[in-house]
Parts: sequence; C-alpha cells; structure tokens
Amino acid sequence: MALIVHKYGGTSMGSTDRIRNVAKRVAKWVRAGHQMVVVPSAMSGETNRLLGLAKELSPASTTPEVMRELDMIAATGEQVSVGLLAIALQAEGVPSVSYTGWQVPVSTDSSYTKARIESIDDKRVREDLAAGRVVVVAGFQGIDADNNITTLGRGGSDTSAVAIAAAMKADECLIYTDVDGVYTTDPRIVPEARRLHTISFEEMLEMASLGSKILQIRSVEFAGKYRVPLRVLSSFTPWDIDINEEAKSGTLISFEEDEKMEQAVVSGIAFNRDEAKVTLLGVPDKPGIAFQILGPVAEANIDIDVIIQNVSHDGKTDFSFTVHRNDYARTMELLQNTVGPATNAAKVMGDPKICKVSIVGIGMRSHVGVASKMFRALSEEGINIQMISTSEIKTSVVIDEKYMELAVRALHKAFDLDQEQAGA
Ligand code: ADP
Ligand code: ASP
Ligand code: MG
Repeated sequence: MALIVHKYGGTSMGSTDRIRNVAKRVAKWVRAGHQMVVVPSAMSGETNRLLGLAKELSPASTTPEVMRELDMIAATGEQVSVGLLAIALQAEGVPSVSYTGWQVPVSTDSSYTKARIESIDDKRVREDLAAGRVVVVAGFQGIDADNNITTLGRGGSDTSAVAIAAAMKADECLIYTDVDGVYTTDPRIVPEARRLHTISFEEMLEMASLGSKILQIRSVEFAGKYRVPLRVLSSFTPWDIDINEEAKSGTLISFEEDEKMEQAVVSGIAFNRDEAKVTLLGVPDKPGIAFQILGPVAEANIDIDVIIQNVSHDGKTDFSFTVHRNDYARTMELLQNTVGPATNAAKVMGDPKICKVSIVGIGMRSHVGVASKMFRALSEEGINIQMISTSEIKTSVVIDEKYMELAVRALHKAFDLDQEQAGA
C-alpha cells in the first residue's frame, strides 16, 4: 500500500462526464490498495470566468483590498470541483470527503493572487485516510495568518498537489493533464514535438521558470526541495488501462543526472509572451547608474528579468530591461515621471510586444557552440535578437513577438528535437 497524490487540471475536470472519469480512475487506484489524496483544479475556463466578473466591476484596480476579494472569488472555482469529485467518488462506491484549502489548513503568506505555502497541517487528512476515505483537497488556495483566503498564482494547483505530497511524504505525486507528458516544447505550437520519458529536475525548473506552462514553477521547486517523486501524465487515456502501465506512462521528473540525459545537449524549448521591454536612452555611463535605474523599480515591487546595457558613446549609454507585461504600464510611468528625469535620460521607450524564447539542456554545461548554433538558426529566419541572457543550462533571447512561433519551430529543428535522442 502506498500513499499517492493525484492532481487533475482544469480540462481533466472540464465536465461532469470528465469528473466521472476521474472518479473511476481514482477508484481503480483505491482498489489496487492505495491511500489517495486527490487535488483538482477548477473546471476549465472557470477561473477566467470568475476573475472576468471581478474585472467588469473594477477593471484596473490592484489595491490590496481588491486583491483580497479576487482570491475570495477565484478560490470558489476549486471549491465546486472538490465537491463534485467527492460526490462522483461516492457514486463509484468509494468513501470520500472534500476540503477547501482553509479546512486542511494549507497556511500561506498574505500575498494575494500569488501567495506562498508556508505549512500544511495534515492531521485531518491523515485521519480520513486512516478511516478509509479518499481525501479531495482544493488546489490553488490556502489561508493566511489572519484567516483570509489566498490563492497561489495561475496554475497553482500543481503547487498544492506537490506541497501536500511533500508534507505527507507521499510515495508519488502524479500530475494528470491534457497532454501525455512533458514535451520538447509545447506540442500545440510544434506538432513535431516529442514526449520526454524523463526530464531532469534542473531542466524542468528552467523550463517552468522560462514560461513552459505545463507545471507551475513553485511545484517544481517543492519537488526539488523535498525530493517528491513527480510524474506528468495524461488524464485522457481510458480510465481502465492497466494500472502498472499507467504508473509508468508520461514523463518522470528525475533527480539523477545520469549519462543518458547528459547526451541531449538541448532538451527543450520554452517561450514566454508575458514580458515587455523598456529602454532608457542616453543615460550617463557612470558608476551607480544601474542601481539608480533599477533601485526604484525594485522598490515598486516590480520584478526585472533580462537586463542589457549598451557600450558607452560620449559618456552616455542606453539601458534596457524586461518586466512582466502586467507591470508594463506601471514601469513606463515610473521611468517617465521619476527615473528618467532623475538620471537625465534623453528618452524613455517601451515595447510590450516582445517575447522570450529559450533553449534548455544540462548538456549545455559541457558543450561549446550551443548559443551560436541558436543565433545562426534565428538569423537564417531573419529574426533580429534584441537581448540575450544565459546561464549554465539555458540561453534565452528576446525577440519581436510576431516571430515567436517561427523561432520556436526553427530552433526545434536546428537542435534535432524531433528526432529520438540516443539513450532517451
Ligand atoms: P492543466 O489544466 O492540466 O494544469 P495546463 O494547461 O496548465 O494544464 O498545462 C498543460 C498544457 O501545457 C498543455 O496543454 C500544453 O499546451 C502546455 N505546454 C507548454 N509547454 C509544454 C511542454 N513542454 N510539454 C507539454 N505541454 C506543454
Ligand atoms: N484554477 C487555477 C487557474 O486556472 C489553478 C490551476 O488550474 O492550477 O490558474
Ligand atoms: Mg496547469
């Protein structure tokens, strides 16, 4: 008997028929003798619908008061899902009980709409499991120290599932979704993308942080920190397929850097349309200028991603950086009204229509020429690179948004990602 956590995403929970299917699958795992905790997302489209209602009443407000209510509203999507799934399980003859985040409780900090899990009290869940019940816990949500409902950021049910698996020392956490594993890139953009049988934890962390929406980055961080065995697999296989076959399907997030994985120089391509670029032209090139520009941005709680400073001309330089697109208007305002005048910038410019495309692979550590191969592939498509950022196992470029799909396809081909890798 093992303790297993299943997570089902929005599409997998998208209708009562699909919920019935989830219940049948979970019932199969129960009949195989396992203790089960199941973490569903809201039904597909529901979180957008709920947040859309709030937006109708208050289009642009980001006051703490409004943010609190957004979480109050968004958390109800998952509350409906857990109740429906518990009923569907009971209809299958499986004793089951559902909990919201606060009933567990899943304790978080108070950063509404992007709260971080601080601790999980598993006493109540364990009592239910001991009594032979399947426990269905709402994903995406928790409660802060003042009893306010919080949510964990979009895609946050992944994080709920992995955090619960970590807190309970579950034997495995299975993330069921609408694709059958982690691919070399989003198969919706590149039909030739290939499913990876395994991906190293470090690569998965980079892929998630660089925009691949298959797993929320914090879920991967939790898996790494607490060594949670983690697998991504399809909820659209027939529910009654052999359980041993199912348990080995999809993609395993591996903590071992074995030789096989070292062979793939580039394992995957991630992309992100959520960024915007801002530029200060003609700022004085003197010690402290980066801090003078970025200090106030950080103080305004705006996250900065890629940064580039040009060579100096007559003591002046140009300075560009990217921010989340939601922070673009705020950043431009800050630069135009405060930072620009304070640094004597000649001009403030902005471009919200950019994207970031990244190649990821632990093999990049030991191979030279990977970045130049990337730049050649982009130049052959006539794509201009605006910014570059590298780390040990990734190279990212910022390009015009309209070339995103072309760039991803060209890179996928250039690195032979459509071919089965030796040893994969
Ligand atoms: P869920 O609702 O189950 O959480 P998501 O929509 O959050 O599902 O994530 C699954 C989606 O992630 C897929 O439908 C796919 O389009 C997208 N995706 C992005 N990058 C990848 C990748 N590298 N491999 C597989 N899917 C990816
Ligand atoms: N329902 C939430 C969202 O749409 C959380 C999730 O699906 O993981 O972002
Ligand atoms: Mg998701």
